[in-house]
Parts: sequence; C-alpha cells; structure tokens
Amino acid sequence: MILPIRLYGDPVLRRSARDVKTFDDDLRNLASDMIETMHDANGVGLAAPQVGLPLRLFVALELGPVEETDGEEDESTDERPVLATHVMVNPRITSREGTQVAPDGCLSIPGLWVDDMVRDASVRVAYQDLDGAPHELEAQGHFAHVIQHELDHLDGVLFFDRLPEQARRDFLETHRSELADMQRRAKAMIKERKATPVA
Ligand code: ZN
Repeated sequence: MILPIRLYGDPVLRRSARDVKTFDDDLRNLASDMIETMHDANGVGLAAPQVGLPLRLFVALELGPVEETDGEEDESTDERPVLATHVMVNPRITSREGTQVAPDGCLSIPGLWVDDMVRDASVRVAYQDLDGAPHELEAQGHFAHVIQHELDHLDGVLFFDRLPEQARRDFLETHRSELADMQRRAKAMIKERKATPVA
C-alpha cells in the first residue's frame, strides 16, 4: 500500500523517533508499504517519520555505480542498478571515516535539493532486521550518504540543517515561498487526517 508522504511543516518530521521494540507483522507490513511508497516516489530512501510514524526504522536502496551505455557522458542515462533493498531497524552509526560531497534532497521536501552536501564518506551501521536480529554493515559513497540522510530523519533532522550556517540561511531564503507552500500543504494534510480518523 502506498502511504502519503508527510511534507516539510508536519511536526512528525521534527520529532525524535522512538526505538522499535515489537517485531511483528505490523512492522513487516509497514516496511513493505514503505518500500512500495519509496519506489512510487522514485526515492532511494524513506524513514518511518516521513509516513507519520515516529519509529526508528528506514528503508534504503543500495545502488551500484552508474551503468555506462555507450561510453558517452550523458546525464539522462544516469541509471544506477539496485544492488539491494535494505530495511534498517534501530540503526546507529558505530564509526565513520572521510568526507564526501554529493547532491542531497528529500521526498518530504519535493523539488528542492542542494548540490554539495558534505557527509561522511563511509559509515559502519549497527541495526536490527525485521525479526529483531542484529546486523552490522559498512557502507561507502552513495549508500553511506543515503544512510546518513535517513538516520537524520529519526532524530528530526532535515538535510538543509546539515548545511553550514550561511548556506542554510541562503537555502531557506532562496526557497522561502516553496517552503511556505509545503507548510500550508502539510497543515492541510493534517486537517484532512483529523477529519477522517482511521481506526
Ligand atoms: Zn529525507
């Protein structure tokens, strides 16, 4: 089931999410819906708060390097193959190394992005799977970038918060009207949900 993605302005995006303690069918269904929602939105990652649940859980795609079709540089064929789809429950970064600069954007802030977000080049993540079993993996490059973005969502942090102060102010100023519009839409979505309560 495709879930509505919460927009910038929805308070759930600013809350610190709580640990997942129950590993049951509800959790498995949620993860499956989140993967479907992420694909539907053409995203590479989605955290539970983005679908309104303040739980420490995200889904993320691990992509391979850009596949070159004919050796020519062409942005429009910038397709990366999906190597794996990950579900990470109660994730935490246990070590980090180096820095990388890459574009960053967010499904909850549609249409806006930055070209030069600085993040750790590689991270080691400890997490649980949907059965509660512990795992640890090391991620680099794009996948490491995605993990850091999604993990931030669990602490109520949005990508532009990570910009240096002046760049953050410039981003907020440049996109003032789009962000205000998202906040209005987020409020309207909240009002609509209140009008049609689910059991
Ligand atoms: Zn995001």
